[in-house]
Amino acid sequence: MISQELLEILVCPACKTKVVLDEQLLVCGGCGRRYPIRDGIPVMLIEEGDKLRIPITPE
Ligand SMILES: [Zn+2]
Repeated sequence: MISQELLEILVCPACKTKVVLDEQLLVCGGCGRRYPIRDGIPVMLIEEGDKLRIPITPE
């Protein structure tokens, strides 16, 4: 599990939006990319986020 302090400073490398923790993924509310956490370390790479990206429906 990653700490709240770390979560506070993590942003999506693609769009610079803060990410939120959802289960074992860090989810960007800006572009829908989702970043995996491996061995407790967030993998904040755009290409990793692309693999797990979910479509964002604009309001
Ligand atoms: Zn993003």
